[in-house]
Amino acid sequence: MNDITKLLRKNVQKLVPYQSARRIGGHGDVWLNANESPLSTIFETEKKMFNRYPECQPKNLIKSYARYVNLSPDQILSTRGADEGIELLIKAFCEPGIDKIIYCPPTYDMYQINAKIAGVKIEEIPTIKNTWKIDVSSIKLKLNQVKLIYICNPNNPTGNIISQDTLINLLKITSGKCLVVIDEAYIEFSPNNSMINFLKEYSNLVILRTLSKAFALAGIRCGFTLSTKEVINALHKVISPYPIPSPVSDIAAQALTVDSIKLMKNRVSILNLNRFWLVKKLKNMPCVKKVFNSHANYVLVQFFMFDKIFKTLWNNGIILRNQNHKINLRECLRISIGSRQECMRVIEELKKFV
Ligand SMILES: *Cc1c(COP(=O)(O)O)cnc(C)c1O
Repeated sequence: MNDITKLLRKNVQKLVPYQSARRIGGHGDVWLNANESPLSTIFETEKKMFNRYPECQPKNLIKSYARYVNLSPDQILSTRGADEGIELLIKAFCEPGIDKIIYCPPTYDMYQINAKIAGVKIEEIPTIKNTWKIDVSSIKLKLNQVKLIYICNPNNPTGNIISQDTLINLLKITSGKCLVVIDEAYIEFSPNNSMINFLKEYSNLVILRTLSKAFALAGIRCGFTLSTKEVINALHKVISPYPIPSPVSDIAAQALTVDSIKLMKNRVSILNLNRFWLVKKLKNMPCVKKVFNSHANYVLVQFFMFDKIFKTLWNNGIILRNQNHKINLRECLRISIGSRQECMRVIEELKKFV
């Protein structure tokens, strides 16, 4: 360690940064490792000059998302991806060194990484192996000093849905004590499972959304936090002054017109069909041990010869996401749902392992 790295906060010295798909890298032409959309629309931005700051919360963007989710604009915060929403909640609600967050692995890593960066304690309460149900009775015993409970629904990387009954139970037992943050990054692939209609009823409910997945806009970095106006006002206090660049709000608003939402739903149907196709094929492959039921644009698969399969596909330019290091996910890979051609490429490669 040189002198400057010694200056780092202790928790940052120890920190293992998020292993994003882009950070891990790879070479090839079939990218099924970041749950991106294989399909895109063409956009043009109207603005040609950028000498002025954007609005803090672009009105047109907020209005468009409010119409899409049928909420009032003061219940919506736009952020630099859903990832920024995860971070802002910790900034606003958790006292470093004292307060805690709960998260339920195997799940999205950014909840615990943001807590670690902020010096906020983490209570890890794994889901039940293979059913991936939330262990509500253990959560109930660990609520002391907890301010935020992060639940990903559908869960990344397992693909399962957490039942509304479970989530409502969680909202009830935490009422007045902590916020339940439901990360609905993939909810467009399973829209009936959204908790959005419960925002009226439960003041401790927060929902995270993004344009990165079903809306096929991972490149513009735009997400939303939905809650009561009190929670949204608290987040206004800690967000940076101009979080949404004007080209971003311009493109995002175009993606949220009535016609664009129809296109999005159409893309979702295509991807859901591709998932059904892929899952059916996978279930008949000798190298596949288990295919987990998914409600999103990816599927978690346990393999025989897991190591060899991951590496061989990687070397052949088919990049999947390794989940083997995560709790209860030994020998598992996550495959994002690509175009039908990309799904076929995966199956063709896997046929070689018998
Ligand atoms: C992709 C993803 C996000 C991040 O979304 P961005 O809007 O791109 O920051 C958040 N949560 C989960 C579960 C995700 O998979």
